[in-house]
Amino acid sequence: MKIDVLTLFPAMFAGPLDESIIKRAREAGRLDLAIHNLRDYAHDRHRTVDDRPFGGGPGMLLKPEPIFEAVESLAREGTRVILLSPAGRPFSQAIAHELAGIEHLLMVSGHYEGFDERVREQLADDELSIGDYVLTNGALPVMVIIDAVTRLLPGVLGDEDSARDDSFSHGLLEYPQYTRPAEFRGAKVPEVLLSGNHAEIARWRTEQAQLRTRERRPDLLKQTFYESGIT
Ligand code: SAM
Repeated sequence: MKIDVLTLFPAMFAGPLDESIIKRAREAGRLDLAIHNLRDYAHDRHRTVDDRPFGGGPGMLLKPEPIFEAVESLAREGTRVILLSPAGRPFSQAIAHELAGIEHLLMVSGHYEGFDERVREQLADDELSIGDYVLTNGALPVMVIIDAVTRLLPGVLGDEDSARDDSFSHGLLEYPQYTRPAEFRGAKVPEVLLSGNHAEIARWRTEQAQLRTRERRPDLLKQTFYESGIT
């Protein structure tokens, strides 16, 4: 998969995307990531990318010309151009799966008060928000989405099954998990997990996932079918 990112802050991307699973995915060629500085597409002496909003009001807006030029030079047939915006579709695990099936994403990160509306109208195929709060710019949302999408790409997680029962994958939160020791400070691992009975373990996990979801996120149960088949 190829992901191009357009940002005013390329340096913010060093670090989070150079570690751990994302680093390995890049090294293995499963994720081809390129970070582009929006200022490289501004051609005046000051490499201006922003201007005041018509009609007045606080702050500055990203001008259309550099963004149009950048997107037109980076996009190709089949590219999904995604704007990061608090007004976008709420990002979710289902959307992460959807994006993991696309060959080329071009993610456009905002700053200041956001984008000139013509960028939304004429360039964007999709608009995503990572939550109901406002960040200073779109770099963190872009990194959140890249992380969530990359771990779903074939061959990226060591064990192909490890994303299968993750929270949200069945519309449920994940069931409780334990490792050794079987007893720690008086707290024992549930007997069923030590039983070796795989059918019983699967049933217990499904019940626990449903229980946890009902207690903590009943909103998820309304959205979902949940014959989950957790094994
Ligand atoms: N004035 C805008 C509004 O009220 O919707 C907020 C602009 S915000 C300060 C600057 C940029 O950060 C946005 O253009 C967007 O790219 C990014 N951003 C901030 N919060 C975000 C969120 N929750 N999800 C996705 N992107 C966000």
